Amino acid sequence: MTTVDAPLTAAAADELSVWPASTAPLPCGDLEVGGVPLAEVADRFGTPVYLLDEAEVRERCRLYAHAFPHADIRYAAKAFLCRTVARWVAEEGLGLDVCSAGELELAVAAGVPPDRIILHGNAKSPDDLSAALRLGVGRITIDSMSEITRLAAAVGPHDERVKVLVRVVPGISAGAHEKIQTGTGAQKFGLSMTDGSAQHAIARILAQPELELTGLHCHLGSQITSVKPYLTAVRRMTGLMARLHRSYGFTTRELDLGGGHGIAYRPEESALDITALARTVRAEIFQGCAAAGLPVPRLIIEPGRAIAGPAGVAVYRVLAVKHTESRTFVAVDGGMSDNPRPALYGVRYAPRLVGRLSPAGPARVTVVGRHCEAGDILASDVPLPGDIRPGDLLAVPAAGAYHLSMASAYNLVGRPPVVAVADGHSRLVVRRESLDDLSSRDVG
Ligand SMILES: *Cc1c(COP(=O)(O)O)cnc(C)c1O
Repeated sequence: MTTVDAPLTAAAADELSVWPASTAPLPCGDLEVGGVPLAEVADRFGTPVYLLDEAEVRERCRLYAHAFPHADIRYAAKAFLCRTVARWVAEEGLGLDVCSAGELELAVAAGVPPDRIILHGNAKSPDDLSAALRLGVGRITIDSMSEITRLAAAVGPHDERVKVLVRVVPGISAGAHEKIQTGTGAQKFGLSMTDGSAQHAIARILAQPELELTGLHCHLGSQITSVKPYLTAVRRMTGLMARLHRSYGFTTRELDLGGGHGIAYRPEESALDITALARTVRAEIFQGCAAAGLPVPRLIIEPGRAIAGPAGVAVYRVLAVKHTESRTFVAVDGGMSDNPRPALYGVRYAPRLVGRLSPAGPARVTVVGRHCEAGDILASDVPLPGDIRPGDLLAVPAAGAYHLSMASAYNLVGRPPVVAVADGHSRLVVRRESLDDLSSRDVG
């Protein structure tokens, strides 16, 4: 028995490697997350539904705080933001990186101290800037030349100087997909250090009495799984710091390396090693600064996906199973309106049957959504039990980041609710979008 059981158990454990740490199989074939069976959540809150494992979010915040003990950790709110998550990360000592007045207002209303908030954005609206000034955010990241005078003009004559960072494009290609690479000159974010526009902007900021430049920011892209591009970025940034010191006598007090830390969506994928990242980055900054005779700047890190992504699970109900000549399609009650990532970036997921045991062997199927779009595919060519049928529940792990924050009202199906789970309890933190919600905007 043990010889048969042991490899099975190891394989089962491996399959759960991309699920929250609290995930455990139940004898009935279901899984529990945060001590709550997924079928129970589906019954109680309906489907599709998103679960967020509180302990997993908190544990990931602690992992960062531990790996970067002398850095400011700013959770990138665009990965997923609601009041509850803002509160969890703030309680863990993190701040927030926001990119609109909306995210900013929500964060402050949830109790995140404004001085722990950074406002980003390649095209900040007048509302974004006035909300930032009114609420007193900690830093504003300058992303264009025109923004410098616009921001300076918005600062009142008796106001304190506004602390700003400059978003520098270091000229590095990194990230899992062209649409999420932000380290090169071929995309819209930041000011290039290779064509001199970053240096030009810095000179301009230093001449603005309303603004106080505290340091430099760069963000290479998203879903990066190697330490290497960060190492190259630190080298280029410390090089720039040395040149700025020589040219303007400017001392960079803060170095913000952005986020982009990759996670595993499927058991065969690997995540970026945060401890290795911290060690390597720290060593490189120390060495670069020592060589140039510069003081070591305070580090800022902005993880988004790596905090929220692995803590989320999406649960769908199967609505239809269709066999064509070439494929079996399993259609669920959600899709690209709650998870646009497969359509946007061609990413792949590992869905799993939950809620019952299946005696059937695996079949290769394509899991699709319910939307009127042929590209509405959640997972192509994945193994699921051959007897999968309407009414079954499918769960998708690593669903906590860039799903609901990018959700749409496509086909007016309404966005799914978010349920927080912890210690055997589940509670609704964002309710389902109703038809009334949707129709109330249509004032006709
Ligand atoms: C999106 C973004 C992040 C977070 O990226 P992740 O890939 O979610 O870690 C951090 N900083 C900035 C400026 C961003 O735009």
